[in-house]
Amino acid sequence: MLRPYVAVMKMNSAALRDAARSSPAPIEAELVSSMTWLINIRWLAGCGVLGATWVADIFLRLCLPALALYGIGLLILIYNAAFHFVSRWLLRRERRDLRPFDFLTKAQIGCDWLAMTALIHFSGGIASPAIFYFFFHIIIAAILLSMRATYLYAAMAALLVGAISLLEYAGVLAHYDVVPNVSAALYRNSLFIVGSMFFFTSTMFVAAYLASTLNARLRKRETQVVTLSKNLLSAYTRLETVYESAEAVTSTLELDQVLERLAQRTADALGVRACSIRLLDETGARLNVAAVYGLSDAYVKKGDLILEQNPLAREVIAGKTIIVDDVTADARLQYPQQALAEGIYAMLSAPLHGKQGPLGLIRAYSVECGHFTPDDVEFINAIARQGSIAIENALAYEALGKLDQMKSRFVMTVTHELRSPVSVVRSLTRTMLAGYAGTLPDSLREMLARMQRRADFLQTLIDDLLDLATGKADLSETEECVPVRLDAAVERVVERFKVPAQEKEIALEWYCDCADGPVKIAATNEGLDRILNNLVSNAVKYTPPGGRVAIKLFARENSATLEVADSGIGIPADALPHLFEEFYRAPNAKAQVKEGTGLGLAITKDLVVRYGGHIGVESQPGTGTTFCVTFPLLVELPV
Ligand code: ATP
Ligand code: MG
Repeated sequence: MLRPYVAVMKMNSAALRDAARSSPAPIEAELVSSMTWLINIRWLAGCGVLGATWVADIFLRLCLPALALYGIGLLILIYNAAFHFVSRWLLRRERRDLRPFDFLTKAQIGCDWLAMTALIHFSGGIASPAIFYFFFHIIIAAILLSMRATYLYAAMAALLVGAISLLEYAGVLAHYDVVPNVSAALYRNSLFIVGSMFFFTSTMFVAAYLASTLNARLRKRETQVVTLSKNLLSAYTRLETVYESAEAVTSTLELDQVLERLAQRTADALGVRACSIRLLDETGARLNVAAVYGLSDAYVKKGDLILEQNPLAREVIAGKTIIVDDVTADARLQYPQQALAEGIYAMLSAPLHGKQGPLGLIRAYSVECGHFTPDDVEFINAIARQGSIAIENALAYEALGKLDQMKSRFVMTVTHELRSPVSVVRSLTRTMLAGYAGTLPDSLREMLARMQRRADFLQTLIDDLLDLATGKADLSETEECVPVRLDAAVERVVERFKVPAQEKEIALEWYCDCADGPVKIAATNEGLDRILNNLVSNAVKYTPPGGRVAIKLFARENSATLEVADSGIGIPADALPHLFEEFYRAPNAKAQVKEGTGLGLAITKDLVVRYGGHIGVESQPGTGTTFCVTFPLLVELPV
């Protein structure tokens, strides 16, 4: 069930990673992007002031201080251009320090505040309709700045408008009567001033409260979403690692490869610098490095972990997963100084435990004190479980290989030792049967003949066993393959089987479709003879008298194909999968032909594979059998 789930996760992983990467702390990211937004809006505000002044002055013919208002509009555009260039410069810088952006945003709002105050003053003071525009500024401050700063700006707006009203009231500042006879009466009316100020100030503070509360809630949600997506990404990476390690367990039996992949994926998934896997040596007293990722050679070569001197490793081997939050403060470590020199401050170690007992440990290294969490412990334990299975599989595989070699060597030694006494027995019986030891009574001759047949069989069995053991023990590597002629080898074997076939009244046919000259393959003459001998002898052996054996050889572009077909007893379908197994004989063959070891085809297949070829069989019980062998052709390069 893990596979489809991971596949779905894989599809979204890029999107997830992008989301997580493009999400620095939300407030900071917002500050940077909002600054550009604020600058863009201000172009509109500056043009708006110029346009509104033009309409009020030319079309509505209001008695405005038009020059001053045009000046304010222009000033807004000029300082906005300055902010635009400064922000572009800040964004181009390699090192992104957020403090200048924060300062720039506050400076922009401060300039806007002053421009707004001037606008209110020149458009009628306390009676100015532009006074409501402060409302937008408070919302902008709430979006871009902290709650405290927003209240501060609300208070500043109230103070500035209050200061203009008072100064105009006291006559210190000139009053501009935008709507004649209306505002002239109002700016000196203290009740109007107090009332307007009360409503203005309360509106500012309520707006500041509502906008900043709403914004704070949105920011909180955004932070939660970013945290969630980061957690999701980390969970995905871990799941992927567990999945990959499970795959590694089944995909390769090479211990080094499995462990190296595990170490690398574990370090990546935990987001740490390095990871190592150590295995117990035969004595069980030391932990040797088996795989390393991310550690320097010097650190790896510092020495093995000796259980007697390393209480931490002892605890881990005993089955505990241990976090070391600060290597300088943990007395259980054997090499704390070397770890510090390597820049390692925290470690997480988990035991590798097999069915037979402890195998070793897996350890992750972080450059940060206190890096590891309980989640990391669970994760590394999951990896350690997979790792233990992989290690056990690989060790078992290695052991099997060794055992197989040992078995082959044993068979070789025994059969080799048997060869000479059997040869002696055969030669003695042959001598006696030939009459060199005097005339023998018929009953004794009969017994000697039987003895010789059995000794011959024993000789074949020994030869086969020796061949098989040689192949398995891979001692044949010393025997170099050379270019040999397949067509000539087939001819030799056909010649050899002519008489036995005739005796059994079997028609032995031989076709060669090799017009391009000799068919050369890389093999040894002895090996090739054995292959052909086994196939043709089987065909003759398992074909009843009156049958037919046909041997065909085709040479094509890159390969040569040999077919040995007979009209014999055939092979039952359920026997076919076992045909090339050592000592296997199909029940119909056993019933009809007593002699046979079941080793011929195992040896044949072994040799065919060794020469880069392939062997297959097709058979129909009662109708016949065809063995088909294909070898790669040796292509002679033009001189
Ligand atoms: P030996 O090892 O002495 O040759 P064998 O002939 O029984 O003994 P293989 O040559 O390995 O052993 O063949 C294995 C089995 O495959 C045979 O016992 C027989 O059941 C089946 N077999 C092989 N060749 C043929 C064939 N041409 N026709 C029918 N059965 C065959
Ligand atoms: Mg045989």
